[in-house]
Amino acid sequence: MLFKTFDKAHTAPEVYQQLFADHRDVYHNFIPIFTDGSKSSLSTSFACVFINSTLSFQLHPSCSIFTAEITAILHALSQISSGPPDNYIIYSDSLSALESMTSLNRFSHPLTFNILELHDRLSTKGFTILFCWIPSHVGISGNELADNLARSATNSFNSPVPVNDVKKYVKSILHSKWQAQWDLKNTNKLQSIKRLIDCWPSLPIRKLDTVLTRLRIGHTRFTHRHLLLGEPAPLCTACQCQMTVLHILIECPRFDLQRIRCFHSSCMTLGDILHKDHHPQLFTFLRTIGFYSLI
Ligand SMILES: [Zn+2]
Repeated sequence: MLFKTFDKAHTAPEVYQQLFADHRDVYHNFIPIFTDGSKSSLSTSFACVFINSTLSFQLHPSCSIFTAEITAILHALSQISSGPPDNYIIYSDSLSALESMTSLNRFSHPLTFNILELHDRLSTKGFTILFCWIPSHVGISGNELADNLARSATNSFNSPVPVNDVKKYVKSILHSKWQAQWDLKNTNKLQSIKRLIDCWPSLPIRKLDTVLTRLRIGHTRFTHRHLLLGEPAPLCTACQCQMTVLHILIECPRFDLQRIRCFHSSCMTLGDILHKDHHPQLFTFLRTIGFYSLI
């Protein structure tokens, strides 16, 4: 892990290239193999670069980048296992994949076990196989080639998909579908404030959290009580329009002064006041205009 001692953000590519050349001088009797994984929104793939040959495959798109990196290393091992025993170094730019091989536990990736098993088997046959992390995108040619090959892989490699990858994949598809449905709900009051589906923190004081939530969904006792009581909807006496959260917080000119005092502007949107981190003066404003106790 020689390269790990350098800070990538502050180390020039030429320094890494020289370090790698020096490292190769020391390990000149070890045959180099470069592996890499790649993941885009559409595909997951991996590549192995040997001295005289290369190979690259696409995995099922639900596979994670970690699975691609681990599969590349396993594939490199299985390729060399068909040849005579020799000294090899497998270079990977995935620190997490390499580190996973040194700390096995019951949550470890299933292919990590396969790698260690095959590595043991090869060791007993007289192979010496080392693993080495190298930084990506610093001009180490074997790594660059593996990176390009993985990105452009077209042949499919049929292998089982780890269950954790499937879970994450299904979760992300469901989330996209949920978001697409939410995007269509443009008459929903909350939609104008919260366009992206994600978790918003709740306020530690329950009462304030309830008030904030009611404002966000646009349903308060004051504006909606009439539905339960069978009464006419409350009207703004100044504007002669129906009282809504939007009217009270944003539109009604009666509260312009309080808006300027609390928000330093009389021209706000509901999103400005009720977004994920609500406006710090929101509750002061609600109390000043006498709305707080009616929510
Ligand atoms: Zn009004």
